Amino acid sequence: MDKVNSIITKLNDYYGVKEWSRWREPVGELVRTILSQNTTDKNSLRTYANLVDHYNNWDELLDADEAEVVELIRSGGLANVKAKKIKKSLMEIKKREGKIDLEFLSEMELKEAEEYLLSLNGVGPKTAACVLIFSFNFPIMPVDTHINRLSNRLGIVSTKSREKTQEEMKDIIPSKDKYSLHINLIEHGRKICKAIKPLCSKCFLQNLCNYYQNLKVK
Ligand code: SF4
Repeated sequence: MDKVNSIITKLNDYYGVKEWSRWREPVGELVRTILSQNTTDKNSLRTYANLVDHYNNWDELLDADEAEVVELIRSGGLANVKAKKIKKSLMEIKKREGKIDLEFLSEMELKEAEEYLLSLNGVGPKTAACVLIFSFNFPIMPVDTHINRLSNRLGIVSTKSREKTQEEMKDIIPSKDKYSLHINLIEHGRKICKAIKPLCSKCFLQNLCNYYQNLKVK
């Protein structure tokens, strides 16, 4: 078995295979992902709940005063920037489609759907990938800070940015494994392969890990 498959298998054995089911409809996923930037899941889910509780639909949010949106999401940080991004992307969808709905992306090929999302104001590669995998199960893996760190430490990629890692992972990771690997790598990054002091002595990936192998020869 090659290294990537061995890593996928070991993570699945330890944390369990994650089966896909829809997280939320795509506009909601777009909004939630924008809210998740530079904060914890707990914070972003709370601010997302504030918006969903306050507005009956995305049109109401689009028409709302920006200052009101900022207040509702303030506890998640970067509220001014996030409120602007959310409103801009909703406005763009409405302008192009006549309504705020992204369900039509399911009819597209992955590349076309990704390009559509990236062409929206305020939507970057990670946000696009989150919408595509969590709302539609398109085979694309969003790369956050944990996944970028682990992929480089393990030696799956050797990159200098999250964007580059996400691009390279498209071909390296088999489509059927992308969802489970995404969830399991994040869990491994939170529990064991921490940013500052990775707990290598407790890690079951030692013999597959470039970072650990380099530590041993020093
Ligand atoms: S051996 Fe250490 S650096 Fe490598 S994946 Fe495990 S915790 Fe991370």
